[in-house]
Amino acid sequence: MPGFFDASSTTGLTGFAVAAVLYIASYLTFVRTLRYTRNWIRPRALSIVVPAGFISALVACVSLSSGGFDAMLAVAAVAFVGILFYLIAAPAIVFRPASRLTELLARHGDYAGLSMLVPALIAAYTFPNAGFYGLLAAAMTIELLWYLRRGWARRKQRLLPIQGDDLAVLKVQAKGDLVRFAKQHGINELVLSGDTVAWKGCNKNTSPCPFNLYVNRLGLNTAPCCREHMQSLVHSVSGWLEEIGVDYWLEGGTLLGAVRDNGELLPWEDDVDVSVVMEDDSSWKALVAGVTACAARDGYCIDIFEPGGFIAVSYATPRAVPLRWENYRLRGEVRLDLTTYWPTISEGKHVLRRSSLKGDMPAIEGGGFGVARNLVLPTSTISLLGRDCACPRLPEDYLRVLYGDFRQVAYSYVDAGPAAARSHIDTTAQTSPSAAKPH
Ligand SMILES: [Zn+2]
Repeated sequence: MPGFFDASSTTGLTGFAVAAVLYIASYLTFVRTLRYTRNWIRPRALSIVVPAGFISALVACVSLSSGGFDAMLAVAAVAFVGILFYLIAAPAIVFRPASRLTELLARHGDYAGLSMLVPALIAAYTFPNAGFYGLLAAAMTIELLWYLRRGWARRKQRLLPIQGDDLAVLKVQAKGDLVRFAKQHGINELVLSGDTVAWKGCNKNTSPCPFNLYVNRLGLNTAPCCREHMQSLVHSVSGWLEEIGVDYWLEGGTLLGAVRDNGELLPWEDDVDVSVVMEDDSSWKALVAGVTACAARDGYCIDIFEPGGFIAVSYATPRAVPLRWENYRLRGEVRLDLTTYWPTISEGKHVLRRSSLKGDMPAIEGGGFGVARNLVLPTSTISLLGRDCACPRLPEDYLRVLYGDFRQVAYSYVDAGPAAARSHIDTTAQTSPSAAKPH
């Protein structure tokens, strides 16, 4: 291999450094784009163009660094970055149902990137090139740091018992074989010793449990730690919105739990939904400023999506950018979705409009989806987990707009097998708060 680290080879060192910097820029802008995938939002053009631009510059830097254009080197760089970025994106991709391969990679997301070390060494041996070395060194250093940080975070997990209905549902879905079930689905949080079943619980500084997968794909109940955190989130954010002085209400499944499960979260709740009415751009700006200040004060991470007027509040310690962007690599998330509604007129009636579909909310004139304003405003209150929160003026009518016969238990997203097992236990368990209520 040529000794490009020779003091005389400043060109080599420059190529190494430039490629390393371009890789870091590609990586950070790429992981930032994953926030759209996690929130089921189509990425903005700029969030694709910027990482694509850095990657193109990186490939050009590597393939041109030995004098002329080296096509094989360009192919090797594209292949390496392409595979590595797929491994990095896998946990965000599986927020929606994805291929088995992607699910498998997501399960091992803490070290999947580091497994590229062997291909990196082979590639480095095959293509002795300073720029390529810079790319590989930067990529592998980032993956090593990611792996070490995830391992460090795991040390902060605390053990919680899995009891009652949570345990009953788990046993049904596992068909009695918890060990095999945990292994098959990569449920690393499950700790089995003798007859006791425990859960390595998450907190603000660990990786969040990927309970969206466990709940929506495997038909389990929400992990007890995540349920606690969702309670903190909804209570905190309700307080913020009262402080800011805007009309808000519990939305979707969160409202459904408050109404149907007597002030509890649905046992399979996977996020908290709160909505807020905006009057104009200045009220949106005031909301963003208020929520930003409250989140910083109370120690939550927020993510603002401008075009849709949507704010995600995560149960995670706020970190400075760009370190914060790496959270988009995590497999799970304990999150509150704060969605905005805007007053408008549709078919001569006053309605509140949102840009994304929720339940069966009808489409309205001029685009978006809407609900009659007088179903929501002036808001009423309802108890959720021991705190009075705002709810639509007519919560049951509102739920009928979203879900039709909302008293009928439905398991959205859950595959047919787990849903059937879940339904059986929910309708037979006497103690279950989720037992389907006869109607
Ligand atoms: Zn958890």
